[in-house]
Amino acid sequence: MVQENLSKVEEKIKEACIRAGRNPEEVTLIAVSKTKPIEMIEEALACGKREFGENKAQEMKEKHDTLPNDIKWHFIGHLQTNKVKYVVGRACLIHSVDSYHLAEAIEAESAKKNVISHILIEVNVAQEESKYGICEEDTLELVSEVSKLPHIKIDGLMTIAPFVENPEDNRKIFSKLHKLAVDIAAKNIDNVSMSALSMGMTNDYEVAVEEGATYVRVGTAIFGSRVYQSKG
Ligand SMILES: *Cc1c(COP(=O)(O)O)cnc(C)c1O
Repeated sequence: MVQENLSKVEEKIKEACIRAGRNPEEVTLIAVSKTKPIEMIEEALACGKREFGENKAQEMKEKHDTLPNDIKWHFIGHLQTNKVKYVVGRACLIHSVDSYHLAEAIEAESAKKNVISHILIEVNVAQEESKYGICEEDTLELVSEVSKLPHIKIDGLMTIAPFVENPEDNRKIFSKLHKLAVDIAAKNIDNVSMSALSMGMTNDYEVAVEEGATYVRVGTAIFGSRVYQSKG
């Protein structure tokens, strides 16, 4: 099932690229494996998939430490400063930095482990109150502050769009994030790249690709729906 789903999603990404006149190689599909068992990740590994996304620090640590070390782990969830130690040195990219406070914690842990942490700044484009992410107006300032931290490299921006019935409704959100990245790139801030745009999930990744996504984060369409057990 995983294999079929993966090829379907990859095909749809390709088609969206063609519609938008983009090179499919610009888009990386992150298989979001949160809550899913090792066996399902192994099925995806058998198809050649090497990029996975997790949103809980300890779960990512356990999977990272169990599975082959050529896997690229993307940390996509809200990150508390006391969990930074599990993620730094294990994630190839932290998609969800939305405060200077969190960036400082990543800087300290990265210095301690003598690594450079690649990050994205999470922007709450939709201005949803329930969501994490910095507002558009404050993004440039956060980018320029974080850019001064020597063990952090900003690769671009990330957003989580709302759940909508019609994915077309999120097009304006994706195009806004893209425009914001272009505007910030034009400032030529040292140590900052705006080439990565992480946007689009199962429901809307095709629209996100049409609007310039370089990373799409797809869980349900690959691994099936998630069952959350109560923690008791
Ligand atoms: C869970 C999650 C996804 C994947 O969601 P699906 O709708 O299952 O594709 C993508 N991004 C983030 C930040 C997530 O937490």
